[in-house]
Amino acid sequence: MPLSPFLDVDTPITFKDQPGVQSAVLYTHIPLCNLECFQCHNKAGFDPSTQFASYEKLLDKLNKLKLLGVELIIVSGGEPLLEKRLKEGLKFIKQLGFSVRVDTNGTLPETIEQLIREKVVDGFALDVKIPIKSVYFDDEIERFNEILYSKKEKNEKKIKLYVQKIKKSIEKIKKLAIANDFQYTILRTVKYPLLKEEDIEEIKRFVRETGIPFQLNPFYPVEA
Ligand code: SF4
Repeated sequence: MPLSPFLDVDTPITFKDQPGVQSAVLYTHIPLCNLECFQCHNKAGFDPSTQFASYEKLLDKLNKLKLLGVELIIVSGGEPLLEKRLKEGLKFIKQLGFSVRVDTNGTLPETIEQLIREKVVDGFALDVKIPIKSVYFDDEIERFNEILYSKKEKNEKKIKLYVQKIKKSIEKIKKLAIANDFQYTILRTVKYPLLKEEDIEEIKRFVRETGIPFQLNPFYPVEA
């Protein structure tokens, strides 16, 4: 039996990730991500000996989740949209009657559009990690590079490129969110200690204009 694009790890069941909906989380290859966020928990806790689950094992797991009343499968990573076999994996889940939400850092708008067009996803949780603006001060550039790339550097280009991708991605998911009555689409921000109160307010202002629901998540430091 071929391998699925999802890791053979425990599958947490949660009511919190998608408020009010019983959900279970599957992970694509966790080190596969194009950002290096400040204190990334997923990467820090990753065991390099982890393998992908076979489709047989995945089917067994999904059948059990169905019996437990899980309605929504949340696909997290890493950055799931970088996984080349993601589409086939999502199709497999949807064929079993689950709704699917993909959690993404929002930097791959073309892939988002492709998945929406192929109707293999019901929503996205998209991270807005820094304020989305047209002009940044030097200290902001340094702080925001540290949030996104764990490097305090004065590289404005990287910030601008990130912002451009996030805006494009949000434009793409808006229609899907409206069509699904915003049921499975959410914008999220981690309250990184590097963000100031005014940054959070700026993010909230930006999100409000999109009309998409918002979740501000607490920051937990990675244990040494
Ligand atoms: S986008 Fe997610 S997986 Fe990637 S580095 Fe940031 S927190 Fe970690």
